[in-house]
Amino acid sequence: MKNSYVSYNQKINTLKHRNEIDERLKNVDPKMIEMIQNEIMEQSPNITWDDIAGLEHAKKTIQEVVTWPLLRPDIFTGLRSPPKGLLLFGPPGTGKTLIGKCIASESGSTFFSISSSSLTSKWVGDGEKMVRALFAVARVNQPAVVFVDEIDSLLTQRTDGEYEASRRIKTEFLVQFDGVKTASLEEDRILLVGATNRPQEIDEAARRRFRKRLYIPLPEHEGRFAIVKNLLSNQKHSLTDEQIHEICRKTIGYSGSDMDGLCREAALGPIRIIGDIRTISADDVRSINYQDFLDALTQVRASVSDRDLELYQKWNQEYGSLS
Ligand code: ADP
Repeated sequence: MKNSYVSYNQKINTLKHRNEIDERLKNVDPKMIEMIQNEIMEQSPNITWDDIAGLEHAKKTIQEVVTWPLLRPDIFTGLRSPPKGLLLFGPPGTGKTLIGKCIASESGSTFFSISSSSLTSKWVGDGEKMVRALFAVARVNQPAVVFVDEIDSLLTQRTDGEYEASRRIKTEFLVQFDGVKTASLEEDRILLVGATNRPQEIDEAARRRFRKRLYIPLPEHEGRFAIVKNLLSNQKHSLTDEQIHEICRKTIGYSGSDMDGLCREAALGPIRIIGDIRTISADDVRSINYQDFLDALTQVRASVSDRDLELYQKWNQEYGSLS
């Protein structure tokens, strides 16, 4: 089934863009195009919904309002037309980037990933051009998912003393965003996914443009369990499911990346007791065990504060797309 959708996409793409490619990229700096293709663009990353633990509400909503329309634009028209912008907000390390990649992968879209800080710092002076180039290349490679990390710093509400360069990047970004919305002939099939840990910093005009705003919270017990299971799956270890559940009970408040950090720390346990690392054979490294995790728990703590969580919940009540 999926293949026929994807080939539908490919057919449309070929027909639609065959004669337009040069036109669309005509005024774009070739060096930027090359950089985007090499560093920012990824053809359908290989991430599935199964790779993302928990977050059932977000996954279901995203499938309905985003992935299916990207697959079948012919059905999702008019009242069913999809949002052009999706905002994922919540604490860091909870799977927002994974979700962006998964949307691209599940819908056969090209994935573009950039962080606001690289636009404002790495491309000093050229940030505005870079935004234009990014959207131009995305148009040529439709359907596309443009993932912008730390989008708050790009669309911040601070206006006093705003640097001229940042202001111009922001303006260009909004112009491109609106261009995505009102493409002249046919609708562009570009979805902008913005991720932020500071949703309260996004100004009202920008907020409105993200029709769907999904809270991506800390993983629940089951989510943490799936993350640990997944990370241990290709390691030599002796942990039982019950021991992993015990670890999950001890890690309330940990984010996905805190869990990742914990597993990495635990995985070093067997290495620390080796006398001479140069001579030991890889097969003789002992399995990771429960005690390694107990030791790691004294080193790796939850990184998100209760105060931050309250802020996210409040913002979600006020502006989030609740189920
Ligand atoms: P962010 O929300 O900051 O974009 P990422 O998506 O980059 O977070 O996640 C960081 C890392 O944490 C991932 O590479 C993964 O190892 C782990 N992780 C976070 N959330 C999940 C999740 N829900 N399922 C599986 N792994 C997760």
